[in-house]
Amino acid sequence: MQYTSTRDKSVRVTASQAILQGLSKEGGLFVPCEFPKLSVSLEQLADMDYRETAYTVMKDFLSDFTEEELKKCIDGAYDDKFDTDEIAPIADADGVYYLELFHGKTIAFKDMALSILPHLLTTAAKKNNSDKEIVILTATSGDTGKAALAGFADVKGTRIIVFYPKGGVSKVQERQMVTQKEKNTEVVGVKGNFDDCQSKVKELFGDEELKARMAERGFQFSSANSINIGRLVPQIVYYVYAYGKLLKEGRIRAGEMINICVPTGNFGNILAAYYAKKMGLPVNMLICASNENRVLFDFFKKGEYDRNREFILTDSPSMDILISSNLERLIYLAVGSDSDKTAKLMNELKTGGKYSISDVFDGIRKEFTGEFASMADCADKIHRLYGELGYVIDTHTAVAGAAYDKYLKETGDNTKTIIASTASPYKFARAVMKAIDAKYADTEDFELIDILSKVSKTDVPKAVSEIRTAPVVHDKVVEISEMKKVVEDNLGL
Ligand SMILES: *Cc1c(COP(=O)(O)O)cnc(C)c1O
Repeated sequence: MQYTSTRDKSVRVTASQAILQGLSKEGGLFVPCEFPKLSVSLEQLADMDYRETAYTVMKDFLSDFTEEELKKCIDGAYDDKFDTDEIAPIADADGVYYLELFHGKTIAFKDMALSILPHLLTTAAKKNNSDKEIVILTATSGDTGKAALAGFADVKGTRIIVFYPKGGVSKVQERQMVTQKEKNTEVVGVKGNFDDCQSKVKELFGDEELKARMAERGFQFSSANSINIGRLVPQIVYYVYAYGKLLKEGRIRAGEMINICVPTGNFGNILAAYYAKKMGLPVNMLICASNENRVLFDFFKKGEYDRNREFILTDSPSMDILISSNLERLIYLAVGSDSDKTAKLMNELKTGGKYSISDVFDGIRKEFTGEFASMADCADKIHRLYGELGYVIDTHTAVAGAAYDKYLKETGDNTKTIIASTASPYKFARAVMKAIDAKYADTEDFELIDILSKVSKTDVPKAVSEIRTAPVVHDKVVEISEMKKVVEDNLGL
C-alpha cells in the first residue's frame, strides 16, 4: 500500500513515511492510492474483539509494518488505559446507537487514535532509520491537546508542544493540559482562536529555514493532528467494530445498511467512517453534524465552502472550527483523485477563503448530508435524553443527537443509526448540568462534577478526579506571532 498526496500525484510514500512526515512537502495530505477491501466477512467481524478488529483493519493500510510490529502497537494502545474491555461500548438510547468513544485516558474520542499514534510513530522512525528526536507540534481546540500529551508523555525520542486558544476551551480541558507534568511536554495558550493556532502550526511545518536549523540539531517535526494518516486509520476501526457488535447482538442483519452521524469539526472522525464505507462496510448515509459554526452544513447544502464568516464560541468547543482540514481528502476523492484540481481549490481557500465544487456535488450528496444544531437545540437534547432515559451525553454528542433528530424529521429515513459519542459529559460538566437544570448555571465547575456523578449515577472518571488538585505546570500565554519563538526556545535553537 502506497500513499500519495492530495496536491501532487507524483508523490509516493509508504505508510510509515506518511506517518513520520505528517503532511506532504507541498502542503497536501497523504491519501491511500487505493482502498483495501475488508479481508474478513461481516460474520467473522462479529466475533472479533477490539484488538483483533484493529489488526484486521489496520494491517492493509499500514502494509509496511510487520505483523509483530503492528500487533505490538495495538496491544500497547488498547489496554487497561481504557476503563472497559470493550474499548468502545455501544449504548442503545432513544432508537439510536451511541458509540461511546470516550473510555480512554482523557475521556474524549481523540484517545482512540492518540493512544496508538506514539507507538506507530516511534515504530515508523525505527523502520526508516531516523535517529532524530521527533518534535510533535499540535494545535488543539481542546481535546487533541490532552490526548496527545497523555500519549507522548515520557515516550523516548519524542517531545511535544501543544498550542491551545486561550479562553476557547473548557475549564476541565484547560486544566487537564496545563497540569501535564512530564519533562518532554510543553503547553502554551495563544491569544487567538483555533484556526489561528492551526494555521500557524501548518506554517511552521512548512518553514524550510526552521526545519533546516532543527535538522542540524537532530530534531524533526511530526504532527499529531488529525491530518496525520496515523490518526485517521485507527479511527476507521471503531466503525467496523461497532458494526460487528450490532450484528453479534442481533440488532442488524449481515449486510444491512446503517447510517452514521458524527459531530464534526476538522472532518477527521466522519472521514474515517467514510473510509470504512470504502472498505466495504454497509453504510448508507453519513450525517455530518455541525454546531453554530456551520460551515460544513452550508457546504453540504450548496456545494460551496466559505470560511468568510464570524467565528462563534459555542458549548462544543472541540468543533469550533471554520477550516475543516480533512475535508480536503473527501474533495480529492470527489474530483476523481485529481491532485491538480484539489490543489487549485485549496489555493482558492487559502487566498479567498472559499471554493465551489458544483460539478461534482451531486456525487457527494448521495453519500453525505449536513445538519446543524444550535446551542439551544443541544441543551434541549441533553435535557430530554436525561429526563426520558436518565442517559447523559456531552455537548458535542448532543450536536449530533439534535442534528440527527432534524434529519429524521426531514427525511423519514429510519435506517438504523450509529451516533459517534465523542466525549464524556464530565469534560463539559458546566454546560451539561446547565442543560439538565438551569439552577446550576452559577455553580462552581468542580462542584458540578460531583452533582453530575449523582444525577447520572456514574463514577467520576479518573481523568477528572486526578486534575482537581494537580499543580499547574504550564502558564505561558503568547501572541500568535510568538509561536515560532516558543518552538525555538523549547528546542534551544
Ligand atoms: C475533536 C472532537 C470532535 C470533532 O472531530 P473531528 O474529527 O475534528 O471532526 C467532536 N467532538 C469532540 C469531543 C472532539 O474532541
